[in-house]
Amino acid sequence: MRKNIVAGNWKMNKSLSEGIELTNEIVSAGNLDENVQVVLGTPFIHLTSVSKLVANSSNIEVSAQNCSDKTSGAYTGEISAEMVKSTGAEYVIIGHSERREYFKESNEELAEKLNQALANDLTPIFCCGEPLEIREKGTHFEYVCNQLTESLFHLSKDEFSKIVIAYEPIWAIGTGKTATSQQAQEMHAYLRTHLAEKFGKEAAADLSILYGGSCKPDNAQEIFACPDVDGGLIGGASLKSADFIAIVNSF
Ligand code: PEP
Repeated sequence: MRKNIVAGNWKMNKSLSEGIELTNEIVSAGNLDENVQVVLGTPFIHLTSVSKLVANSSNIEVSAQNCSDKTSGAYTGEISAEMVKSTGAEYVIIGHSERREYFKESNEELAEKLNQALANDLTPIFCCGEPLEIREKGTHFEYVCNQLTESLFHLSKDEFSKIVIAYEPIWAIGTGKTATSQQAQEMHAYLRTHLAEKFGKEAAADLSILYGGSCKPDNAQEIFACPDVDGGLIGGASLKSADFIAIVNSF
């Protein structure tokens, strides 16, 4: 059975004390839908503190926003998947479009990051999505399928069963321009079919596929109602507890 998941991506926002304050507001709200897996994607330096704050919450986990494709060694400034796991975090976002664009992360490098995450018992939230020019050309299905093929198709069925996918059309991230629920549904269904061809129908049916891109309290309900949308990866609206909680409670 696939899970409904709402994951916040704080990006490079919030000082440590601000992050602790936001976490406390979410943890103490007392009205989170218990059937939703809530994930807080914090900056690296917040992971240990935020993990401690959510330790007694049955449905809140913590995520890093990236990890290294290397195991350990002389890679100044990098953070390994093993280090992420040692903070208490259980998830890691891999392949966000900002990492792909600004840090030139390729599909091949992201495949290595996935391997690192899985080897360290972290749940990867693997991001995919097309830029505007690809959507306008009409080749978005092929483009996103190719991202998945090149980064995921080396995984075993068992490894595949441990990952989460986030479909995030780049033209909808931080722009206020959400994909329509129909656009989200058709891409999610297409990706599920593509993945079923490789990993089998049952494994694809059990996969959680999140939508990301200007998801807000006023559009989350419609998007989450789509049969192949299993939740959201939330950027801007994850920075305010009231908005984030409203999104979590939108199923
Ligand atoms: C994101 O960056 O993953 C994202 C979905 O951002 P926003 O919700 O702000 O569009």
